[in-house]
Amino acid sequence: AVRVRFAPSPTGFLHLGGLRTALYNYIFAKKHQGSFILRLEDTDQTRLVPGAAENIEDMLEWAGQLLPTCQNRYDDLSSLRENAQNSKTLSTTCALITGVPPDESPRRGGPAGPYLQSQRLALYAQAAEALLKSGAAYLCFCSPQRLELLKKEALRNRQTPRYDNRCRSLSQAQVAQKLATDPKPAIRFRLDGEAPAFQDLVYGWNRHEVASVEGDPVILKSDGFPTYHLASVVDDHHMGISHVLRGSEWLVSTSKHLLLYQALGWQPPHFAHLPLLLNKDGSKLSKRQGDIFLEHFAATGFLPDALLDIITNCGSGFAENQMGRTLPELIAQFDLSRVTCHSALLDLEKLPEFNRLHLRRLVGDETQRCQLVGQLQALVEEAFGNQLQDREVLDPAYVERIILLRQGHICRLQDLVSPAYSYLWTRPAVGRAQLGAISEKVDIIAKRVLGLLEGPGTNLTQDVLNGELKKLSDGLEGIKHSNVMKLLRVALSGQQQGPPVAEMMVSLGPKEVRERIQKVLC
Ligand code: GLU
Repeated sequence: AVRVRFAPSPTGFLHLGGLRTALYNYIFAKKHQGSFILRLEDTDQTRLVPGAAENIEDMLEWAGQLLPTCQNRYDDLSSLRENAQNSKTLSTTCALITGVPPDESPRRGGPAGPYLQSQRLALYAQAAEALLKSGAAYLCFCSPQRLELLKKEALRNRQTPRYDNRCRSLSQAQVAQKLATDPKPAIRFRLDGEAPAFQDLVYGWNRHEVASVEGDPVILKSDGFPTYHLASVVDDHHMGISHVLRGSEWLVSTSKHLLLYQALGWQPPHFAHLPLLLNKDGSKLSKRQGDIFLEHFAATGFLPDALLDIITNCGSGFAENQMGRTLPELIAQFDLSRVTCHSALLDLEKLPEFNRLHLRRLVGDETQRCQLVGQLQALVEEAFGNQLQDREVLDPAYVERIILLRQGHICRLQDLVSPAYSYLWTRPAVGRAQLGAISEKVDIIAKRVLGLLEGPGTNLTQDVLNGELKKLSDGLEGIKHSNVMKLLRVALSGQQQGPPVAEMMVSLGPKEVRERIQKVLC
């Protein structure tokens, strides 16, 4: 059975690069009806970042909040809903707002747990013990000071620091003697012989000379914690990992890992190293390049689906790049043999466009739309809470109508609470003098507009309204059309600039428009 794992160290919050590695693992697992495991590699206790472990798991599970369902109280909603259904350009096979939840993880548990390396120390000790016994590993009594000296000297000579394997040659008697004063030595793995070649599923045949480069590596530290190499091999073995899909920075360590598998008498998994995710300009994806943490995207209203889509659209694994893919489509279309060694260049400037596509898809789905209504209600409440007094703007039917009307014009739901759209949620405080400054004929213009909204006016579309407003201005001698529009804009929104007047009228609905205009007359 296919079993893959995402094995981040909780030394930082989950960012886009990590998400991409997790996603490829997830997709690969789902494609082969396998399991996706989250393992937290927290063996370097000095580098742990508080909250990172929770953040990584939270963000993988990141999903839409469950919000109240909407009730329909507006008559014109049914046609809008129908349009939404018909106009959806994207497949809704997976309408769910979804994350990449692991099947097994620290939080979820599972048959191969615990999934936190710090809780698996006995397993590493056991493996190290076996390696000691077979002679593949040895005790190292070198003091931190000595190792530091070695390092400094190498650097002074412009050489790569390398352990000189001194403790390799200690006799049994010497070991016994040293143990008397230093009962907790580190354990090093004897890197002997030729590094085995292996066929990486992405990078092809590879072999990396490991022995001569760094010297024998520590596999178990004196505090009983393993180093990455041992822990990763032991866990991949005990967790039954069939394929290791990880960042290409680990490619050079794989020969070392294979030597460990060999020494432990275990069958290694298949390896597939994934090319790096870089900025559009080829620079390293890092905090300095702006926010790349998932938390940031979640907090600023980006949909998980949009992020999954954009990070799979810049790299390989698919026959073609294609915007708007949902997770089931990603799973169906992914092909590991199409992953190439080229770095993936991420153009985050396109993210709003990706989000717009996915938002439209969700709007086109009844259940998802209800969730969006709940989310927008919460956003409106948060943004305008104390100004909402006497209007039923939080009415789910009104909120839904706004979403249906504006979906093609916004990238994120958040955009609907931006200043340009505040007129939707709050009534402007407009003084008579302000309107009088635009035109002396405030009353006559207002009355005509009210007339327009009677009877058939209740169902005007934006186009028809524009025509009618033009006719209305033409019928008013000595009044410029632009002033009529300006006056209406200020009366409806209190602002000099903003969305087209007819759009505002359609969004607000005839009843609210009438009320705002009537206020002008009194
Ligand atoms: N803990 C390693 C990391 O954070 C995992 C490498 C691997 O997947 O083997 O990158």
